[in-house]
Amino acid sequence: MIKGLVVEDDAQLIRALRINLEARKFGVETTSEGNTALRLAATRKPDVILLDLGLPDMDGIDVIKEVRKSSGVPILVLSARHTSEEKIRALDAGADDYVTKPFSLDELLARLRAAVRRQEVPAPSDEVAVIETDDFAVDLIAKKVRRGDRTVRLTPTEWHILEILITNPGRLITQSKLLLDVWGPTYSEHTNYLRVYMAQLRRKLEADPSHPRYLITEPGMGYRFEG
Ligand code: CA
Repeated sequence: MIKGLVVEDDAQLIRALRINLEARKFGVETTSEGNTALRLAATRKPDVILLDLGLPDMDGIDVIKEVRKSSGVPILVLSARHTSEEKIRALDAGADDYVTKPFSLDELLARLRAAVRRQEVPAPSDEVAVIETDDFAVDLIAKKVRRGDRTVRLTPTEWHILEILITNPGRLITQSKLLLDVWGPTYSEHTNYLRVYMAQLRRKLEADPSHPRYLITEPGMGYRFEG
């Protein structure tokens, strides 16, 4: 049984989540307080945490930072905050993903399953040498990309970006994280670099670069690889 910890102060939403998660064989514990959440995260070792950012006793982002000091448990943020800055703060603090309220239960469950699945499988770079899509194959060890029977030439920067995205399938990677990992700390404002390189990658990999199927933009936030 997958143990979920729901941290949320909206009683109606808690009830809906409990019913739906238990129907799908999740174990569910709930609390409306950040401090209790931290205690439960440490003692009950949940497999996944669903976390509202606006809690009565503390900021959800501080909950994320505290949990991350000792645990890699997947954290899915339930956010009523609509600015991308807030979402990026949550992701940069260590959240795995977010859904914006109001959300559909189907979307929440899909994100939840993806977060738990990522936790269960070993990191692709450790175990999986080749990631294949319908249109191209990426060999992570040889650092080669193949499209049909020809090799796609990538620059080192293009490769670096692709590698980060493709080893985190389904996961939003923020612009700030990509810029930091690929270019370093002094480039955090250069989101235009990312647009340029993502366009190049799409031209090389996507069947229809203007309607990408694999290298997805989350406007104002970052990018996501869908395998
Ligand atoms: Ca709230």
